[in-house]
Amino acid sequence: LGSWGQGLALAARAGAVLADLEFVQFHPTALDEPKRPMSLISEAVRGEGATLVDETGRRFLSGVQGTELAPRDVLARAVGNHLASGHRVFLDVRERPGPTFARQFPTIALACKEAGIDPARDLIPIRPAQHYHMGGVAVDLAGRTSVQGLWACGEVASTGLHGANRLASNSLTEAVVCARWVAESLRGIPARRAQQTFASDSPSPDPAAVRPVLSRALGVVRNREGLEAAARALLPLAECADATSGPAVVGLMITIAALQRRESRGAHQRTDFPLHAAVARRSEITLEAALRTARELEPRLECLT
Ligand SMILES: Cc1cc2nc3c(=O)[nH]c(=O)nc-3n(C[C@H](O)[C@H](O)[C@H](O)COP(=O)(O)OP(=O)(O)OC[C@H]3O[C@@H](n4cnc5c(N)ncnc54)[C@H](O)[C@@H]3O)c2cc1C
Repeated sequence: LGSWGQGLALAARAGAVLADLEFVQFHPTALDEPKRPMSLISEAVRGEGATLVDETGRRFLSGVQGTELAPRDVLARAVGNHLASGHRVFLDVRERPGPTFARQFPTIALACKEAGIDPARDLIPIRPAQHYHMGGVAVDLAGRTSVQGLWACGEVASTGLHGANRLASNSLTEAVVCARWVAESLRGIPARRAQQTFASDSPSPDPAAVRPVLSRALGVVRNREGLEAAARALLPLAECADATSGPAVVGLMITIAALQRRESRGAHQRTDFPLHAAVARRSEITLEAALRTARELEPRLECLT
């Protein structure tokens, strides 16, 4: 099936409360290629000494604390800003790790080869890519959502454990630990048929129309103007009952959550609110509230069929 936010859409449509949706982690170094999903070039490569340079060969991270080993959000913004100012960004592995690169990182070496890049000779083009969602369906420690009879666990859930910015590798730990708690919570509860059923023949989610809207407005930096434009574009898509509506529902809820968080914190950075609030708070949203807020931005648009 792939992951297109189906779990979030399903829970949202069932009326569940979703939390911290605006916190989306970007990986700073995805292979810049047409293929989707893009291949990631792990930070381990930078840990082995690979450097980030632009098309002039300049190491443009000199002003960034931690340079190549800065946290993901810091690096993703630095790369994103450099790209936005018209540069291209590359990973240079020719010197370090150098000749051992293919042996140390065979999967990445293969991805480069498939993209027609020889890392021993060529610079590897990179750009930030959406990677992990700290937000999700709000759950308690037993995985219970706000909808009776609905549990959530793993990346689809929002336990709050990752705050506004997950540390690499913590998601599998969370999934394993929380899965046990969910299983213990479910033990002895008889299965019952859901009152609301979902058509099993509904089309596979198609994010094609949603992706460019989110890429424009919900990247590594956001602002009110862009988020409002995204909400206006996503509202009619979310209200249509077709393959686009699931991804659009999720995109719209993330957009409204990002609009409503008027601060910069962790993976959520707003150019119009660059500071973080003195007190950290979690955000909660329902689909109904997101639709209402989006409709207030502009009169309701009719679904084109
Ligand atoms: C490239 C990459 C590298 C990563 N590396 C790490 C790492 O090193 N360490 C780490 O901790 N985390 C890593 N992560 C994050 C981690 O892999 C994910 O957070 C984790 O796999 C999520 O697991 P999950 O079971 O919650 O969700 P998923 O793996 O997304 O599983 C959800 C499943 O539900 C299925 N599904 C969807 N809708 C339906 C439906 N209606 N009916 C039935 N099934 C459905 C989907 O097909 C999918 O198989 C990485 C992520 C990526 C993308």
